[in-house]
Amino acid sequence: MANGYKKTMNLPKTGFPMRASLAQNEPKRLAQWDEDRLYEQLLKKNEGHEKFVLHDGPPYANGPIHLGHAQNKISKDIINRYWAMRGYQTPYVPGWDCHGQPIEHKVEETLGTEKFNQLPTVKIRELCRKMAVEQVDTQRQGFKRLGVLGEWDNPYLTYVHDYDATDIEIFKAIFDRGAIYRGRKPVHWCSHCHTALAEAEIEYGDEVSPAIFVRFEMTTVPAGLEAYEGRLWVDIWTTTPWTLPADDAVILHPEASYVAVVVDGRAEIMAEALVEKACAKFGYESCGLARRADGEVWRMTGEELCHNKYRQPIFGDQGVEGEFIYADYVTLEDGTGVVHSAPGHGVDDYNAGMRFGIPVVMPVDDDGNFYKGDGMGTGGPWSGMNVNDANPKIIEWLAARGTLILHEDITHSYPHCWRCKQPVIFRATNQWFVSMDKTGLRTDALRELEKVKFYPAHSRNRITSMVEGRPDWCISRQRNWGVPIPAYTCQDCGETVMNDATLDKVIGLFRERGSDAWFTEDPASYLGAACVCPKCGGHSLKANTDILDVWWDSGVSHTAVCKHRGYLKFPADMYLEGSDQHRGWFMSALMTSVGAYGTAPYKSIVSQGFTLDGQGRKMSKSLGNVIDPNKECDTRGADVLRLWVSSVDTSTDVPCDDAILNHVGDAYRKIRNTFRFLLGEIEDQFDPATQGMPVAELTAYDRITLAHMCEVHDAVARAYEGYRFNAVFRTLYDYVTELSNGYLNATKDRVYCGATNSPERRSAQTTWAHILSMLVHDLQPILVYTTDEAMPHLPASMRDGQERAALLDWYEAPMTAAEYGPLLKAHKALAEARGAFTKAYEEAASQGVIPEKTSQAASAALTMPPDALAELAATGIDLAEPLVCSSVTVEAADELSATVTHAEGERCPRCWNWRELGEDGLCGRCHDALGEASRQASRQG
Ligand SMILES: [Zn+2]
Ligand SMILES: [Zn+2]
Ligand SMILES: [Zn+2]
Repeated sequence: MANGYKKTMNLPKTGFPMRASLAQNEPKRLAQWDEDRLYEQLLKKNEGHEKFVLHDGPPYANGPIHLGHAQNKISKDIINRYWAMRGYQTPYVPGWDCHGQPIEHKVEETLGTEKFNQLPTVKIRELCRKMAVEQVDTQRQGFKRLGVLGEWDNPYLTYVHDYDATDIEIFKAIFDRGAIYRGRKPVHWCSHCHTALAEAEIEYGDEVSPAIFVRFEMTTVPAGLEAYEGRLWVDIWTTTPWTLPADDAVILHPEASYVAVVVDGRAEIMAEALVEKACAKFGYESCGLARRADGEVWRMTGEELCHNKYRQPIFGDQGVEGEFIYADYVTLEDGTGVVHSAPGHGVDDYNAGMRFGIPVVMPVDDDGNFYKGDGMGTGGPWSGMNVNDANPKIIEWLAARGTLILHEDITHSYPHCWRCKQPVIFRATNQWFVSMDKTGLRTDALRELEKVKFYPAHSRNRITSMVEGRPDWCISRQRNWGVPIPAYTCQDCGETVMNDATLDKVIGLFRERGSDAWFTEDPASYLGAACVCPKCGGHSLKANTDILDVWWDSGVSHTAVCKHRGYLKFPADMYLEGSDQHRGWFMSALMTSVGAYGTAPYKSIVSQGFTLDGQGRKMSKSLGNVIDPNKECDTRGADVLRLWVSSVDTSTDVPCDDAILNHVGDAYRKIRNTFRFLLGEIEDQFDPATQGMPVAELTAYDRITLAHMCEVHDAVARAYEGYRFNAVFRTLYDYVTELSNGYLNATKDRVYCGATNSPERRSAQTTWAHILSMLVHDLQPILVYTTDEAMPHLPASMRDGQERAALLDWYEAPMTAAEYGPLLKAHKALAEARGAFTKAYEEAASQGVIPEKTSQAASAALTMPPDALAELAATGIDLAEPLVCSSVTVEAADELSATVTHAEGERCPRCWNWRELGEDGLCGRCHDALGEASRQASRQG
């Protein structure tokens, strides 16, 4: 509008800069928040109100923060800020998981394994603690920079004395109920890390394994096969040849039918359903089925074959036998329908073996090597050999003895250690367990889960099926950096000693001196009268060295944090973490809480997907696709990262790369420009408190627009409350886009060119102020820095009496649903009319009908369905303004249509609208505006 009338117009003017310079400005703002103690102010503002406690899941104190961390903490902050605006008091205590293998692993790497192994436990623990403290500090800086408000000065750390003591308090509560036991059971064992691993510490990945079919020689003869005595075999299949030295049973399906294939004079038992497939595979060309004396094909079910015996495949020459048993899990899809079983090397085998009294044989040591010796329980021919090295040797040995039927390599999903990424083995060791069923923990947990709300709803199934299927929880680890399992061994009789008296003493010891004392103090010095073996009466107890699974540590935060910090709540209102925590923290918290109290520790769970790159791949240094949140804060700014979190569907895996962040950056600028555009006519120019108009007095267009805004605002609130941030983002982003193309573009003429104090201009400013207020409030939980930056530019009456955006209350819409609802049809009709007009205008412009190439030079004739027309007519709206054209006529018709012609009249030199111009050469509106301006000027003069 470069014309001479410029100074007579209300052109935009604001101190809110167009360029955000977030990377430079955010850290200054953050420092100011720190100085003002903004988090404390926020708690104070909602003091005495109902609380909303989102209990932070502790990230592992290891390495700088990554994008997944950023997503997690930003999500939590968005939720807390939303509920704080809603008036809830939202204490948020961040925490860190400080014990456990990754830190110990790092210390071991730094020192070298040899030196590490020579250090006393207490020294190793000291180094681990030092490392944890450093890591916590690094991560804390990263999290704060993201704009996350919380009790950063006083976070919870799982190595402090009270936390150590709480670990044992919960242990005692569950122990007293009778759910904790010591047992020899196969567990995932990492021979590289020397420890048992929990299900949550296992990663599955493809592995090539040898699959072999082996025939075992029968030593008993099932009824009807007497004719084959001495040449009777049973065929099995396994992918772990190294478990054959521990074989002492074969498992059949109880109801399946088994037959004996006659080949080369031998009879080999296998499932009837697999005969064809197996024989083809084995190259058994001319074979038949064994028949009974009466000529019928011999058949028996797995159950009928139970208790038959065979020569143990490795140690059979020494007279060792294995037994036929059965279990439902044997499938008839592959193999022979007969599974070799080593109960020490598999949970299913173990459970099946238990039912039939099959002994647990364990010939493999901590390093994954066979014990030396000749008999069962040792590696026999492979004494001292690593199980992986033994695999091919065992296959050769079987082949030489003529019992190997077939060897092939298969690729299958195999468990690996989460730390060292090495394949793990199943191995029976003495461990501590929490029983899922002895005291009804499983059923109690399932009952409690029913009371929990899940976002997204379907994630309930995930944890539920995990609880249904999970084995007993192995809670012991053979490491240094953790809280000890408080058990002693009697030095006189070997009894394991643990009871209420010793547990109480340990709790006291840990609370006072921390769990380090376990490794330095003589038990007699603190146990007092409790230092006695209940079995032999001896007083010489030695502290055992197993530590608790680190998931136990984080699990009991419901007590160490939510209960022990009186200003929090138990159960917490919400736990929010990545979906892998269904088997991690959500699970260990549930088990320890239900185990100790009979209730779940959370009322709701939000589970989120993982961050991937733009092509759906994991981020990794080797792929070069890592998005580093610290770096993003230093370049694009935290608000862009926060906006990204709000833009993705966190209920599933979320993509991120440079291109995606560029798009988010564009969206950010669009929102920022909208703030700036609106502030341009409000900052120091309009105060809704004194100059605003009631809704009923607004122009029809403004009222319709406001009705839609209220609808958007309600949709945003619903999306926040369902923790669907992407719906918040989508709704607001679409709204902002729609505003800049539609309403704001159309009404800027009225605001810039209308008489300063005219009701029409005040009506528009009132509406702009509502929109600005709504956007700043609704975006506050997400764009924490930018909305805070906008605050001083807002009139005081739009700031809820606050200086900081975080302290705003939730925006109160000017119309209730009952008030705005009836206007939404008019809004819809208006949007459709605008669409039809735009299309017709573009056609007309391209055909040269409007040489000025501006819709202001156009007039429109619309037809629209009578319903829509009636809705619009009822509001009294003149469509020329929303369509940004000279004049509009509307008629009812079946179809919506628009015809565009050149406007009558001339272009007003001040506002560039096409109107009938007056004697001063201006349109009537501009004439009035100038009149008002000159009257004011003369009054001031
Ligand atoms: Zn490992
Ligand atoms: Zn004893
Ligand atoms: Zn004009």
